[in-house]
Amino acid sequence: MAGAKKICPICKSKEPAQAYRPFCSKRCADVDLSRWLGGKYSIPAVEPPDEYELMEAMERANRERQQADE
Ligand SMILES: [Zn+2]
Repeated sequence: MAGAKKICPICKSKEPAQAYRPFCSKRCADVDLSRWLGGKYSIPAVEPPDEYELMEAMERANRERQQADE
């Protein structure tokens, strides 16, 4: 009645299934999810491990100070 026929945004060929709206199948829902997660997880992966290096440097400084006290 509305005229606009809804289609799956991933494969753009099939109608959305009731269980996987707005996707046509679990396969297309998984594709969308992995795209979304892929974009999210790629951000921390490129960042350098600054925090780890800082902790290591602090530990080393503490050890040297203790050795100097003894
Ligand atoms: Zn689809």
